[in-house]
Amino acid sequence: MARLNPAELEIDLFCKGVKIADSCTLERDARSFSRTRAGLGSGLELVLPSPRKDLWMNAPVFEPFVEATPYTLSKRDGAYEIRDARDSALVYPVRIPPRPRWYEQRTSAGTPMSQVGVLQGTYLGIYFGETCHFWRTSPSKACKFCTTGLNVGTNEAAEKTVRDVVETALAAKEEGGVTFVHFNSGKQTVDALDLAAPYVKALKEEVGVLVGLQAIPSRDLWKYDWLVDLGVDHFSFCYEFHNPKYFAEYLPGKQEEVGQRAFFDAMEHVAKRMGKGRNSGEIIAGIEPIEDTLAAIDYITSVGCFPTVCIFRPLHGASAAHLPSPRYEEMVVVFRRVYEACMRAGIPTGLAPNIEVSLIVNPDDAQFLSPDTLGKRWYEFKRSLAKRAAAPLFRRKMTPRPVPVSATDPSAYRPKDNAPPS
Ligand code: SF4
Repeated sequence: MARLNPAELEIDLFCKGVKIADSCTLERDARSFSRTRAGLGSGLELVLPSPRKDLWMNAPVFEPFVEATPYTLSKRDGAYEIRDARDSALVYPVRIPPRPRWYEQRTSAGTPMSQVGVLQGTYLGIYFGETCHFWRTSPSKACKFCTTGLNVGTNEAAEKTVRDVVETALAAKEEGGVTFVHFNSGKQTVDALDLAAPYVKALKEEVGVLVGLQAIPSRDLWKYDWLVDLGVDHFSFCYEFHNPKYFAEYLPGKQEEVGQRAFFDAMEHVAKRMGKGRNSGEIIAGIEPIEDTLAAIDYITSVGCFPTVCIFRPLHGASAAHLPSPRYEEMVVVFRRVYEACMRAGIPTGLAPNIEVSLIVNPDDAQFLSPDTLGKRWYEFKRSLAKRAAAPLFRRKMTPRPVPVSATDPSAYRPKDNAPPS
């Protein structure tokens, strides 16, 4: 068997998972397994080192399909490695990111910080708002791959105040140099953008970090302009499936109460407002036919966003737990397309400092899957120039500053280019 390159190994581990040998001392060396948000972070956080860039991932450990994996994590002479049982010569050195000290701290209100947010790769992920409304309907309208309803209020605090979030983000920034806080929410009974606004403003004023937001799309598109003026740096839109039949079947709540078009409208709006490469469309690969996944990638890049593609994980507790984990060969095709579609559309990925997302194969991780052509070298050259040119802008964005826009009264907002909100 040929040795896999770092992106191929990352994909194969996402598809097959990893067993843990008795030699490992993860309780001492690793972050805890955290079943938070939609549940995708339920595995083991790993770093696959490579000279060009380190790849961060969250490898499945607990799901039944992991029984059949050829991969085993072991510890030898104080270092971790992954062995492939199909060929004894295949040994891959890996790093285990340690548990941050702030996971043991509490906010001034007494909330454990590890229940306010979790590190997913190098960024701080925070679920805000109530448990997703789709989990509270009868019959349930929850998305079939999701386990949020089993996690919020159990493994993470049900209610997170602005102060809890600010104190946790400050601790994560001070200790680990976190540069990005990503908010995520399920369906709320009010517009989630209204709920997010005070958190965004407080982080910009008191912490100084890049801020991302993922929420059910608002029909009031002007509110995205409001959030941008409050400081949101990135929006992601998880429409999950491009094929409308799969969208309807696997996302009953989103189908009935939101509709696929609302995701496209919001994504296209922010792409126009914020420019190329700032926002993302989020999809799941491994359930709908691969042609639909490739069409999604082409659509997302055509409107100026980058695709964030999760490899489907049949999680315990999800309605889709019985489905098989995706095939490695198909996922390689998907992620090669992610990289090459970004290249074709001239989408600059990976510019922001220290943002490695462990729940997906990052678009720039996928560079290892694409052949070395003149076009690729030119794209990589432009990416490295853009990264250097953008550094001062990111430094400014990560400096705390007053935000002269109300976060609590959206009706007071007067967008610069649009008509005032009605
Ligand atoms: S919208 Fe779907 S994926 Fe998001 S929290 Fe609700 S059920 Fe889960």
